[in-house]
Amino acid sequence: MNKLSTPWPAVISRLLATIVGSGAIGWLLGSITLGMLAGTLCYLAWNLSNQARLERWLREGRKLEPPASRGLWGDIFNGIHRLQKRQRKRRKRLTRILQGVRETINAMPDGAVILRENGEIQWWNGAARELLGLRWPNDEGQRIANLFRHPEFSVFIREHHTSASSITVPSPVNEDLTLEVRVIPYGLNQRLLLARDITRLHRLERMRRDFVANISHELRTPLTVIHGLSETLSDTVLHDVPQAARPLEMIEQQTQRMQRLVEDLLMLSRLEIEQKPIDQTVVDVPRVLQLLVEEAKALSGDKQHRIVGHVEPDLCVYGDESELRSAFSNLVFNAVKYTPAGGRIDVYWGREGGRARFAVSDTGIGIPSHHLPRLTERFYRVDGGRSARTGGTGLGLAIVKHVLSRYGIRLQIRSELGQGSTFSCSFPEDLTVRRPDQGRTVSSASN
Ligand code: ADP
Repeated sequence: MNKLSTPWPAVISRLLATIVGSGAIGWLLGSITLGMLAGTLCYLAWNLSNQARLERWLREGRKLEPPASRGLWGDIFNGIHRLQKRQRKRRKRLTRILQGVRETINAMPDGAVILRENGEIQWWNGAARELLGLRWPNDEGQRIANLFRHPEFSVFIREHHTSASSITVPSPVNEDLTLEVRVIPYGLNQRLLLARDITRLHRLERMRRDFVANISHELRTPLTVIHGLSETLSDTVLHDVPQAARPLEMIEQQTQRMQRLVEDLLMLSRLEIEQKPIDQTVVDVPRVLQLLVEEAKALSGDKQHRIVGHVEPDLCVYGDESELRSAFSNLVFNAVKYTPAGGRIDVYWGREGGRARFAVSDTGIGIPSHHLPRLTERFYRVDGGRSARTGGTGLGLAIVKHVLSRYGIRLQIRSELGQGSTFSCSFPEDLTVRRPDQGRTVSSASN
């Protein structure tokens, strides 16, 4: 803190000296009171004139040098001047920082738009001008939803956002550009909209999907032919050439394996390409699971698993039956494949806290915990040899994950090596529906 160079005792003694001095002059002239009054009035007039100079100085421009004055008023003028200089310096520094931040954001290849609470545009960078077509000054203060009229974007901008949520939409200025748009809340109800050009990535992704779908489709016919031929050969040649039995059996096994692989790849491609909303058809999950339990028993065959269904018979969901069937069957059949003979498999379907929960538990070989995070990746296998022996394609759990993600839900996996595994998921309440014609709440099927 700056100290006044004129200390208060000196100020007070100067005031007293003025009053006493003017009193003495008054005494010489015949009236002490009038003399003191005149002295006080002079002191007041001096103060008033300094106040007027201060007011004029502050009003007329703070860049001017302070008025020259001595004593207390000189200290006040100099003190204010020092504060002003310091503030000016600080403002300059802040302006430089702000300018630097703006230039950095402007140099970003991603579009950045600062939105006020109600979605009004406050500021945007150069890339946003290119990608979103924002024009200065016309678009300042406009609502972003009024300028960027895309149905998905309109819904997205109204939602509550986390930095992880994003949508992929075409650019409003160029349909050929694909943008990934994110909205990040910050500060006091402000939002930062980021738009990134992902056209190349999107094109590559589409090419990859189309390639896999096409090649799988193309492989279907030759595989069917090979399968048919190997069957014909088995029927005709085996009689004359019995040593061809083993090679023919292997051809058939491998062809069937490739056919399963092609079917799974096609299913995955369909799930990726079709991005359609969930059907409003009611899926009779209890019936689907009853059939699955029967099929699982047939698959178990000599392994004599004990397969038990615990199914709430009136609990259905809105969705696509063939997709859900595929997801559930992958989980149930995996339990059969990876549970040693005589083991137990439980299939659950019931309400849990308003949601509908599906779970498959087995007493099988279990999965080491470090494999769990990657288990739903395509072709990821814990034990490649065992999976191949069980006829697995390595795509089952990837299909399950994709199907469930269409319902906005995740596959949960709990497993202990040598003890068994539980694969489960739970459907939100708004997707569940009650089937009215059922009275019982629990049905079970067992071997
Ligand atoms: P696969 O066709 O090889 O079974 P999945 O995608 O269905 O492929 O499963 C991936 C891997 O997860 C399997 O190879 C297997 O190692 C493991 N796995 C899946 N389900 C189970 C289970 N119930 N018990 C033990 N391991 C399992």
